[in-house]
Amino acid sequence: MYPKSFKKLIDNFAALPSVGPKMAERLVLFLFKADNEKLSDFARSLEDFKKNLRHCKKCWNISEEEFCQICKDSSRDQKTICVVEDTLDVFAIEKTKKYTGLYHVLGGVLSPQKTVGSENLHFKDLDNRIEKEGILEVILAMNPTTEGDATALYINRTLKDKGVKITRLARGLATGADIEHADELTLSSSLANRREV
Ligand SMILES: [Zn+2]
Repeated sequence: MYPKSFKKLIDNFAALPSVGPKMAERLVLFLFKADNEKLSDFARSLEDFKKNLRHCKKCWNISEEEFCQICKDSSRDQKTICVVEDTLDVFAIEKTKKYTGLYHVLGGVLSPQKTVGSENLHFKDLDNRIEKEGILEVILAMNPTTEGDATALYINRTLKDKGVKITRLARGLATGADIEHADELTLSSSLANRREV
């Protein structure tokens, strides 16, 4: 019943996380009503997005250059790495303004059902960074979930003999709640009260 081009755009929107078919319909209708200039700008931003963004060569954060803003900032503590599941966790922790070290984005967590294995995540790069950069502390900022725990345990095991201090965020975060959605105060206190594992 939808015109073809209308349907195509609805399908694309509906494929996005948290966007259901009803919401997709509404968004597409909104775009249909938007003026040409706005629409071109929207299309261009999508193109630029794909063209300009990539992963930081060092920490796997999102970046427009070879190395991300955080890795390039020499005023940050170069001896501490905070390991997170995803880029959204970097954004959340940066918002607290309480962390001044570097990051390492794993790109996911290990799943107990082994659908995501260690070879799919950026563990090897983390391993290499410890010695190469003379890292003194690794903060495990995994979400308090079964997968997060399994991932933290795995990293703890692989880095145990490297002589690096390994800490994990305090359990200020409710079980099941994730870093991405935690408020800044909770996240700040989880960071401040991190414990050695
Ligand atoms: Zn980086």
